[in-house]
Amino acid sequence: MDTENTKLDPQAVKDELIMKREELHKRLQNINHDFQTGHSPDSEEQATERENDDVLHGIKQEAEIELSLVIEALQRMETGNYGTCSECGKEINPERLKVVPYTTKCIICAS
Ligand SMILES: [Zn+2]
Repeated sequence: MDTENTKLDPQAVKDELIMKREELHKRLQNINHDFQTGHSPDSEEQATERENDDVLHGIKQEAEIELSLVIEALQRMETGNYGTCSECGKEINPERLKVVPYTTKCIICAS
């Protein structure tokens, strides 16, 4: 039986989280940049731009939530709490952590 699949390499997970953090930082920077670029004086154009802003706001919010989860996960790694469910305190399945490295809950508490 292959046990490698269920083993979690903390360094690999950390690297992945740091990469994810950088990626989200960049994404948020780009979004903020888009917000700062001025709006067209044309009212019809403005309507489209406002719609774009709404979409952008949604993306921004999602990225911010994801970023805070990634930062939290990195903090938990520092304190040695990484991989423990925040609800029941049990160990989170490594397979689950591989898919969502910044999850704070085990599959039972998350569902
Ligand atoms: Zn749990």
